[in-house]
Amino acid sequence: MSENGAVEGLKQVQESIRRAASDYGRDLSSITLVAVSKTFPVEEIEPVLAAGQRVFGENYVQEAKAKWPALRERFADVELHMIGPLQSNKAREAVELFDVIHTLDRPSLAEALAKEIVRQGKRPRLLVQVNTGEEPQKGGVIPAEVDAFLEACRSKYGLEIAGLMCIPPAEDPPSPHFALLNTIARRHGLAMLSMGMSADFDAAIQLGATHVRVGSAIFGSRPKA
Ligand SMILES: *Cc1c(COP(=O)(O)O)cnc(C)c1O
Repeated sequence: MSENGAVEGLKQVQESIRRAASDYGRDLSSITLVAVSKTFPVEEIEPVLAAGQRVFGENYVQEAKAKWPALRERFADVELHMIGPLQSNKAREAVELFDVIHTLDRPSLAEALAKEIVRQGKRPRLLVQVNTGEEPQKGGVIPAEVDAFLEACRSKYGLEIAGLMCIPPAEDPPSPHFALLNTIARRHGLAMLSMGMSADFDAAIQLGATHVRVGSAIFGSRPKA
């Protein structure tokens, strides 16, 4: 997609979010669009920044590190979200780079992040990823173990958890997964709900998403890995 295409895509997604908020009686200011710029080069991100978008998501620490420090010198109010699987040995760089981490899903990572948060004196907001479809190949805590994991994050690692994130199985209707995530978040009084991507952010907004992660509907399709 051309650069103008990405700005056009951004406007269409913003309009769809406005419509969904209105349809479902949601306060528009309670919904944040995370523009997922993974695989797209700086030149294709710049026009989206120039159009006013400030919240972006990336999946890979190394890629984010190559792209964002320079962009942030020009757009200081950017908020960067880590939405991809995170290795514990990347915790240092992740805490340095990201304002929000959506993919906390195991004790070893909680421990590594806690250490870096103390060492760096930086406090990225943390979301626990929930594997609502219990898919073995996917990251995330299975629903039955979320309560214990949240408790361990708080009491054992001293981490404050801001919310939950999920990626429903590709072959399932997403709404039951979004509803389940919402139920678990309410049970724990967690405010942030990261759910919904290009194909299903409308349903996610209906079911309470506070953060929708939208890539291809803005930037166009990505090359298949
Ligand atoms: C890539 C990705 C997205 C964006 O997906 P689109 O279908 O392009 O909107 C959202 N969330 C996660 C976790 C991703 O990896």
